[in-house]
Amino acid sequence: MTTLRILLGDQLSDSIASLADLDVAADTVLMAEVRDECTYVRHHKKKIVLVLSAMRHFAERLRARGVRVDYVTFDDPDNTHSLRGEMLRAARRLQCERIVVTEPGEWRLLEDISGWQQASGVAVEIRDDGRFLCSQRQFRHWAAGRRALRMEFFYREMRRGHAVLMDENEPAGGRWNFDAENRKRMPGGVRAPAVPGFAPDAVTQAVIDLVAREFGAHFGELEGFDLPVTAEQASVALDHFIRERLAGFGDWQDFMRSGEAVLFHALISTSMNCGLLAPLDACRAAEAAWRDGIAPLNAVEGFVRQILGWREYVRGIYWLRMPQYGHLNALGATRPLPEFYWSGETGMNCMAHVITDTRAHAYAHHIQRLMITGNFALLAGLDPDQVDEWYLIVYADAYQWVEMPNVRGMALFADGGVMGSKPYAASGAYINRMSDYCRGCAYDVKAATGSRACPFNFLYWDFISRHQDRLSANPRMAMPVRSLARMDPGRIEAMRSQAAVFLDGMG
Ligand code: FAD
Ligand code: SF4
Repeated sequence: MTTLRILLGDQLSDSIASLADLDVAADTVLMAEVRDECTYVRHHKKKIVLVLSAMRHFAERLRARGVRVDYVTFDDPDNTHSLRGEMLRAARRLQCERIVVTEPGEWRLLEDISGWQQASGVAVEIRDDGRFLCSQRQFRHWAAGRRALRMEFFYREMRRGHAVLMDENEPAGGRWNFDAENRKRMPGGVRAPAVPGFAPDAVTQAVIDLVAREFGAHFGELEGFDLPVTAEQASVALDHFIRERLAGFGDWQDFMRSGEAVLFHALISTSMNCGLLAPLDACRAAEAAWRDGIAPLNAVEGFVRQILGWREYVRGIYWLRMPQYGHLNALGATRPLPEFYWSGETGMNCMAHVITDTRAHAYAHHIQRLMITGNFALLAGLDPDQVDEWYLIVYADAYQWVEMPNVRGMALFADGGVMGSKPYAASGAYINRMSDYCRGCAYDVKAATGSRACPFNFLYWDFISRHQDRLSANPRMAMPVRSLARMDPGRIEAMRSQAAVFLDGMG
C-alpha cells in the first residue's frame, strides 16, 4: 500500500510521528514550499529563509536515508502554492491509498487538514505530535476541574513525570523554583560570550536569493542570516550555550542591554520550534551541566522551567482554548498598532532598541518581548488582533501555538487571567532597573508629567486608573490600586491628559 506522508515546515524531526512506520520501499514523503504559508501573514524575511532552508536540508537528510521525497520547490511552475493544492496533486500523481500527517501547530491549518479526506477521497490520518512532552489529551486531563490553570503546578507535574531535576521524589536542591534569584541587574563589566553563527551554505544562499526576490517588501532585514538550519547545527548551538552562557542565564535572564539582544539567552527556540532540536535533550543537557558543576542550579532550573514548564503549558492552553482564545479581548483594547512598531522610529529608546533588534535578527529575548513591546501594547490599549499579528510576523520562532498565548495571555491580559494571575504592567522604573535603555533616552524616566516625562510612567497610571474597578478585585494588583487612591487627583488628571495627548498623537 502506498502511503503519502506529508511533512510541514515546522515538522523537521527524525522522530516526527508521520514518519514512524515509514516503508522506504513503498512510501513517499511530500514537502512543499507554498506561497500561502509565507504570506498568510507577511513573515519576517529571516523567518522565511529559516523555514525554507531547513526544509531543503531536511529533505536531503531523508534522501540520504533512502527515503523517496517529493519536494515541490517554490519556483516549480505547477506549484499551486497551497498545502491543500499540493496534497491533492501528490495524491493524484502517486495514486496513494493513505495520507499520514502530524497535527499542525496552528488552528487554521488543523481546520484545513481536517477537510483533506473529503477533498481527496483518500483516507487521512492525523497523528499526535509526540515531540511535545505533554500531549493535548494529557493537558486537557490536567486542566479538567481546576479553577485556575497555573503554570507552576503544571510544571511540577512535568518535572516529576519526566524525572528532570529530581532527587528521588523531591525537587533537586529542595525547591521547585529559583526564580527569585533570577532578576539581577547585570554589572556593566560583564560581557556575554559571542553566539555561534552558521554562515549560509549554497542551499541557504539560494533561499536567501529567493526571499529577496519574492518577499523583499516583508518586514525585517535579510542580511546576516546565520541561524542553525540543520539538526547538527542546532546541536552545536545548544552545546555552546550550555558551556558558555547557561551559567549566567539565571542571574541575568531578565536584564536588557542596548544593542545586545541575546546576552545569556539560548537562542534555541527557532531550532526547537521547527523540529531541529528536541526539548527534552535541551533539558537533559542543562541538568547534566548542573550535575557536572558547570552551571548553578538557579540557572539550570530557570532554563528547564522555560522549556518543560512554559513551552508545554502555553501549547496546552492554546489547544485547550482555541478557537475562542483568538478572539479574547478582556480589557476592551481597540487602539490601532502605531507605525513605529514597524519602523522603530520613536523617541522611546527602549522601544526603538527592541524593534531595531527585532528587525535585524527576527529575535528579541523574553523580557524585551514582554516588558517593552508587550508592556507598551498593554498600557496603550492596543488592539490584541493587531498586536498578535505583529508578534506572529516579526519573530523567527513564531508559530501560533506558542505566540498567541504569550501575546494575548501573558503580555496583554486579553484572556482575562487564564494564563497569568495579573497583568504584567510596569512603569519606567522597572525598565530603568532592568536595562541600560533609559540612560540614552530623550525622556526622563523619573518624570511622570511634563514635556520630558517617560511615556511608560503616565501610561502606567492611566492604565491603572482606566481599569481600577477590575484591578481592585485582584489581590495581586492591590498595591498600585491603593497607591492610585492615595494620589492627588490633580496629578492623576495631569497624567491622564498627557496619556490621551500622547496616544492620540502616536499615528
Ligand atoms: P531562552 O530565554 O533562552 O529560553 C529557553 C527556551 O525556553 C526558549 O527557547 C523557549 O523554547 C522556551 N521558552 C521560554 N519562555 C517561553 C514562553 N513564555 N513560552 C514558550 N516557550 C518559552 N516563544 C516562541 O518560541 N515563539 C513565539 O512566537 C514567542 N512569542 C512570544 C511573545 C511574547 C509577547 C512573549 C512575552 C514571549 C514569547 N515567546 C515566544 C517566549 C519567549 O520569549 C521565547 O521563547 C524566547 O525569547 C526565545 O528565545 P531563546 O531561545 O533565547 O529563549
Ligand atoms: Fe523607555 Fe522611559 Fe526609559 Fe525612555 S525613559 S528608555 S521611554 S522607560
